Amino acid sequence: MSDPFVIVGGDAAGLSAASKFAREAPKQDVVVFEKGSWVSYAHCGMPYYVKGEVDSLEDLLTLTPADIEERGIELRRHHEVTGIDTERNSVTVEAAGGQFEQPYDSLLIATGGHAITAPIEGATLENAFTMHSMDSAAALDASLTPPSDWDPSKTTLEFVDADLVDRYATTPRPETAAIVGGGYVGVEMAEALVGRDLDVHLFQRPDALLPPFGRPVGEKIAATLENHGVTVHLETGVDELRGDERVEAVATDSEVLPVDLALVGIGIRPNTEFLAETAIETVESGAIVTDEYGRTSVDSVYAAGDCAQMEHTVTGEPAWIPLGLTANRAGRAIGTTVAGTLTETGAVAGTAAVKAFDMEAGRTGLIDHEAAQSAGFDPISETITTASRSGYYPGAADTTVTLTADRQSEKLLGGSIVGSDRAAIRIDTLATALDQDMTVGELERLDLAYAPPFSPVWDPILVAAKVLNGRFDEDVSG
Ligand SMILES: Cc1cc2nc3c(=O)[nH]c(=O)nc-3n(C[C@H](O)[C@H](O)[C@H](O)COP(=O)(O)OP(=O)(O)OC[C@H]3O[C@@H](n4cnc5c(N)ncnc54)[C@H](O)[C@@H]3O)c2cc1C
Repeated sequence: MSDPFVIVGGDAAGLSAASKFAREAPKQDVVVFEKGSWVSYAHCGMPYYVKGEVDSLEDLLTLTPADIEERGIELRRHHEVTGIDTERNSVTVEAAGGQFEQPYDSLLIATGGHAITAPIEGATLENAFTMHSMDSAAALDASLTPPSDWDPSKTTLEFVDADLVDRYATTPRPETAAIVGGGYVGVEMAEALVGRDLDVHLFQRPDALLPPFGRPVGEKIAATLENHGVTVHLETGVDELRGDERVEAVATDSEVLPVDLALVGIGIRPNTEFLAETAIETVESGAIVTDEYGRTSVDSVYAAGDCAQMEHTVTGEPAWIPLGLTANRAGRAIGTTVAGTLTETGAVAGTAAVKAFDMEAGRTGLIDHEAAQSAGFDPISETITTASRSGYYPGAADTTVTLTADRQSEKLLGGSIVGSDRAAIRIDTLATALDQDMTVGELERLDLAYAPPFSPVWDPILVAAKVLNGRFDEDVSG
């Protein structure tokens, strides 16, 4: 009997791999070690739980431990992998019963990442939250609920850290919040906290929100947040959260603002510290180097999800862009490979969507000129604004599209969309064009749907492509 396929991490990447492997190779063993109590949960839904749009944390679970075991997967929660001996093909596991060694035939590292707080002093004070764990979301929800309205049945779900949540359920309800970081977590949480009647200040060190989405998106999202009462502080770094035990103020470059809750969303770092003594290659971000099959630099060891690099769709170079679909897809591919059919994990274009109240945005590929230039391209961009439906049809709204292309090859490099009428999902057209390596001319000739309730004759993406295509001609003749 051979050793099992061992997977470290029981969420998107790890459980996708385990499920696929169990289906493809039902006679072989697969063991998943998860250091926490939560498995198969949706981080992405946490802002909507905090806002109150999702009733229960339970709704954010895809599979229960029983479902997982039913699939023929051995699930060991509260088991942390603390080391790997790649010579002996074995991992060291810490659990309540003590430490043990687990041999593996193949190993998948799917350990995700953790929220960074390090540059900000005081981030361990009470009422300072990050949004990277279900317990954090549960504790934040409890702190926002007046003690008299708190429903203790919310903590009966066996996964929840009940002590933490109960503690926050008895604290005075905050009224003012500082969100540190204007990326997608900061933007989503600003909406959530306004939805819970807080006075929200959003601090962003750069001069625009959502930098990977480009300036037109950042500006529209900032204006929308402001219209809903959020005070957006651009070019304002937060150095410190101040207070005795609980957060009482936030100290920026220029002022000290009293607040009684803080949420830090300034990025994540891969959970790969435990690989330090191994030959498994990582890069400066902490992400694990992988090839197109998710194989690491060590035989029989794979990596997927937020802890690993993937190939970038546009540059063909390794990139670390932690997102949900790519984690699931890479895990599934590795499950298939380990079961015997070599399968590529696919590339990542950084396709993402976000919303602030009624304003939606999407982005994909390379938009920023500096990033495009350092990948060897000669970028040119165009931004247009046009209607989302035929102008006479109710509901039509301005939709702003930015496209970036390479001047030499006329290939599309990336783009973004922002608008209040079903704008975000239109990004999928651009993601598909990138996957197909299209030129802007090919994008302009796409046969997209037209009917007044859905789109004008010229879809906003087609308009943007047409205008950018014209710029190539101008440049040639001029
Ligand atoms: C608030 C928020 C909103 C998001 N919204 C979106 C979105 O809208 N769209 C999108 O594409 N992505 C979104 N994401 C990102 C998405 O959630 C992640 O890309 C995805 O969860 C990555 O899955 P993963 O399996 O790689 O890692 P994770 O989901 O982080 O799972 C890793 C697991 O490994 C466990 N683990 C870590 N170290 C060890 C160890 N040594 N031993 C055992 N177990 C270990 C962890 O406890 C964890 O359960 C969002 C993330 C957050 C935080």
